[in-house]
Amino acid sequence: MKKRNLLSRLNDGAVICAEGFLFEAERRGYLASGEFVPELALENPEALKNIHKDFQHAGSDVVQAFTYNGHREKMRVIGKEELLEPLNRAALKIAREVANEVPSDQEPNLIAGNISNSNIWNPNDENSQKEVHSIFKEMVEWAAEEGADFVIGETFYYAGEAYAALEEIKKANLHAVLTIAPMAENVMRDDVSVVDTCKELEQRGADVVGMNCFRGPTTMMPYLKEIRKAIKCYMAALPIPFRTTEKQPTFFNLDDNNNCTCPSPHGRTFPTALDPMYCNRYEIRKFAKEAHALGINYLGVCCGAAPMHIREVAKAIGREVPASRYQEKMANHFMYGTNERIPDHIKEYGDKA
Ligand SMILES: [Zn+2]
Repeated sequence: MKKRNLLSRLNDGAVICAEGFLFEAERRGYLASGEFVPELALENPEALKNIHKDFQHAGSDVVQAFTYNGHREKMRVIGKEELLEPLNRAALKIAREVANEVPSDQEPNLIAGNISNSNIWNPNDENSQKEVHSIFKEMVEWAAEEGADFVIGETFYYAGEAYAALEEIKKANLHAVLTIAPMAENVMRDDVSVVDTCKELEQRGADVVGMNCFRGPTTMMPYLKEIRKAIKCYMAALPIPFRTTEKQPTFFNLDDNNNCTCPSPHGRTFPTALDPMYCNRYEIRKFAKEAHALGINYLGVCCGAAPMHIREVAKAIGREVPASRYQEKMANHFMYGTNERIPDHIKEYGDKA
């Protein structure tokens, strides 16, 4: 089947993009939390492939190569700089494989390259900025060589670094999705407002602009509404599935408000003890529905997302996906079902269960 590019798909409807693989790979036992390096592309390629396939089954239209944090600086931090290029190419190859492994009557998935916050960007140091440009440049070039359809630049909390990412993606003539992730100060770290950063990204030629990660539905939605009024290009929304609050707008400083009896040894819920603050699936569906109604049609869920959350996004936009077959069927539940075979005395027991 003919494969449409990102922009024609957005023009025709919505694009669902699964993200958040650091958390999902960690949960499955293939990645160390905190360090967060996607080494499984080399060490456990089958495990990575399975993650992609599970999200594809749940409705993702995009296979995002898992190169998040797989940049030169992070590889230096863990003392494995020599694995940088092999890791990037392996992740891109796996993404390409999965994207093309769809039944012949289905449209192949889009393949996305991925760059992200380098954590060395310094608005007052030109050398650091040059270094960040070269970090992005090499990754974007590998993505282009390995057949990426577009590149996602994400989780930027410096406006300047987001612009740098966009510049490098555009140099490679690929479509660019740029999503920012302002911290709890509610402004970019270099003092540019969230809305102004998005306006600037649009002006500089990003194809899709929006927000991803760090914030749950509650603390992302107000900004999405403001951004939507300020820009005309396609917009992206990929929150984390956690109940962040006005006081604690990101997951970095989110307190456990759910009777924790055994706090994490490192003193915060991020990133290993966030479980009690999970959004339920209906909250994710509601968010996606609301975002879509605003005219945001590049949708997904970031860190913390399970395939089930992506299925909820698909449901929100009225899309049937392979995993829709396994949407809940409470009618056949042994106590709460409505199936005629369920005995009355068991139904009645339900409230005492
Ligand atoms: Zn994330």
